[in-house]
Amino acid sequence: MNYKIALIRGDGIGPEVVDEAVKVMLAVGEKFGHSFTFEDVLMGGCAIDAVGKSYPEGTAEKCRACDAVLLGAVGGPKWGHSSEADKRPETALLSIRRDLGLYANLRPAALRPALAEACPLKKETAERGIDLMIVRELTGGIYFGRRERYQTQDRGEEAADRMAYSQMEIERIGRRAFELARLRRGKLASVDKANVLETSRLWRSVMHRLAEEYADVQYEDVLVDNAAMQLVRDPGQFDVVVTENMFGDILSDEASMITGSIGLLPSASIGDQAPGLYEPIHGSAPDIAGQDKANPIATILSVAMMFRYSFRLAGEAQAIEGAVDAVLTEGWRTADLARPGEAAVGTARMGELIREKI
Ligand code: NAD
Repeated sequence: MNYKIALIRGDGIGPEVVDEAVKVMLAVGEKFGHSFTFEDVLMGGCAIDAVGKSYPEGTAEKCRACDAVLLGAVGGPKWGHSSEADKRPETALLSIRRDLGLYANLRPAALRPALAEACPLKKETAERGIDLMIVRELTGGIYFGRRERYQTQDRGEEAADRMAYSQMEIERIGRRAFELARLRRGKLASVDKANVLETSRLWRSVMHRLAEEYADVQYEDVLVDNAAMQLVRDPGQFDVVVTENMFGDILSDEASMITGSIGLLPSASIGDQAPGLYEPIHGSAPDIAGQDKANPIATILSVAMMFRYSFRLAGEAQAIEGAVDAVLTEGWRTADLARPGEAAVGTARMGELIREKI
């Protein structure tokens, strides 16, 4: 089978980590008998430099013509915070999610056994294991609602951001989460703020209706403040966690920190139609760009997610994840993972070690 992949290398360390992930993809193709066609897509700061806007016309069409999209990272201090939306790299990220209908963001946070010492939590907590998946709603809520800024009579300037969710938006992300829980350990926690927010009360009522339909999944409601606390107290209790856009943004960063380095965690953004978009959770790391210091593992594990969720090739996904674990178990570390005094390998060498295991 030939798969067509859109490559958005982006800015900073993006091109370096994507290059290693592509080489891993080719190694998997060789082993399992798949071939790939790659289509380079310009987006982010590099697109501002080349054509004057971060999200050039035709970006979504090019991606839609592919089976999946692999993204490195976009942005960096060079492009600052322009007042013109199409000159901000981040605009491109929101635009592509919207245009490809990528409403579900899947972020696994697993403590890899070889890196238990990198977990900042208590040793007993780390030893109980951490393996959870945050399913974040990605195209609704406060990040996409109406924004206002106006002058009041007596309180100076005032700003407002509208948070809205429809039944349809909640139900489709809910179904994704219940289905995923079925494929994992059969547990789902839905995070909301139903004691305060009306959107959360609607969210909860839709989730309860789905919970009856997916009676084989063990379901619970968790208030977002409690969820933030439980993630550092006992993250091992969670399997799949589903939540709205802003809560998911914050909780998934918290979950990433308890597993060690930001350089390890992949993500998938999917909708009802192909292509899904796969990317590391980290940014463009301008401080280490071009120095062969970036950890390529998060991007390589994003390719594993691509095989699992877009191509339904679980064996190929496991081959990548197993290779990463084997390399870490042998003690190889990039600089972000190395302890003081411990030797570190560069981006290219880490990619090569992983390919050798495949
Ligand atoms: P960042 O994730 O780029 O970096 C935070 C810290 O983590 C830095 O010290 C960096 O060196 C380190 N780091 C990140 N990835 C690493 C890796 N693979 N290996 C080793 N170390 C790594 O976050 P930031 O500094 O807040 O943002 C930098 C730029 O990236 C900004 O312009 C931001 O807008 C953008 N950004 C883009 C995305 C995206 O493209 N999806 C996501 C987040 C931030």
